[in-house]
Amino acid sequence: MKLPPFDYVCPTTLSEAVALLAGHDDAKLLAGGQSLMPMLAFRLAAPGLLVDLRKLEDLRRIKIADDGIVLGAMVRWCDIQADARLRTAHPLLVAAVEHVAHYQIRNRGTIGGSIAHADPAAEIPGIALTCEAGIATVGKSGARVIPASKFFLGPLMTALEPDEIIVEIRLPAWPAARRWGFQEFARRRGDFAMAGAAIWYDQDGQGRARDAHVGVIGVADRPQRLSKVEAVLNGCTIDEATIAQAEAAASAEVDPPEDIHASAAYRRALLGTMVERALRGAAGVAPANEG
Ligand SMILES: Cc1cc2nc3c(=O)[nH]c(=O)nc-3n(C[C@H](O)[C@H](O)[C@H](O)COP(=O)(O)OP(=O)(O)OC[C@H]3O[C@@H](n4cnc5c(N)ncnc54)[C@H](O)[C@@H]3O)c2cc1C
Repeated sequence: MKLPPFDYVCPTTLSEAVALLAGHDDAKLLAGGQSLMPMLAFRLAAPGLLVDLRKLEDLRRIKIADDGIVLGAMVRWCDIQADARLRTAHPLLVAAVEHVAHYQIRNRGTIGGSIAHADPAAEIPGIALTCEAGIATVGKSGARVIPASKFFLGPLMTALEPDEIIVEIRLPAWPAARRWGFQEFARRRGDFAMAGAAIWYDQDGQGRARDAHVGVIGVADRPQRLSKVEAVLNGCTIDEATIAQAEAAASAEVDPPEDIHASAAYRRALLGTMVERALRGAAGVAPANEG
């Protein structure tokens, strides 16, 4: 289907982009276009002006430091996959990106676009929540950092103001010894997940889990942390009994919607299985990333 008509600008500075966005009520940012273009084609959006971010080179940087990782909003999925440093600096992020869409889409789609689009089944909003990322923005009133826990408000709804641009995703540092697992189920590889789980925990001197973080996608109107499952894990060795308890707690804690793809009961059971498998991966008795 043909796109609706729109004007197009391609600013070369961030301040120019902010001014364009603030000066036009009907403007929309264009990053990789992999969500926005289908929205235009289906007439789900009809902006009068597209502000293309592709010339803002500062938004393409990946910085890895002792105090954390900073990903510019225009970092593409393929950039994350190609950066060998990230495989040790943040293996959970890299594992999740491997499940995002298909090769062609990963060559254009960006992390900032995905966070702004806020699809409830998308991997990286789930990782941002699970890893307590900060979403750094710039708008006409200045800069701010929005915690991921306050950013995702519903399906395709976020805490972004209309004139705000995401400039960076900030992830806390990742200790080398951290245990992690990522699992999702999609009908075809590259499709959005019907349910998925990202899990990490650190260990005390006796090998018991502490500071467990469990985030899930595809089972609510936004990514969700499962605090009851985290409570099951904290202080325990991740053995068969704990994994079974966590699986049951996960199925009980979510309240998934019913849709054309699956019943609520199916999704609840599936999510329990994703949590179980992710935990097995984290504990080292199965691959940490599968699906
Ligand atoms: C067939 C197909 C399969 C897909 N499968 C998956 C999948 O399995 N998992 C997944 O996560 N995604 C999937 N996607 C979506 C893909 O990952 C997109 O690339 C991503 O969601 C949006 O990134 P983008 O750079 O293309 O953003 P765009 O499409 O350009 O923009 C998306 C939205 O974000 C806004 N925006 C963009 N950048 C910024 C910014 N810096 N600040 C503020 N707002 C901004 C835009 O205005 C727009 O509203 C799929 C897409 C397709 C077409």
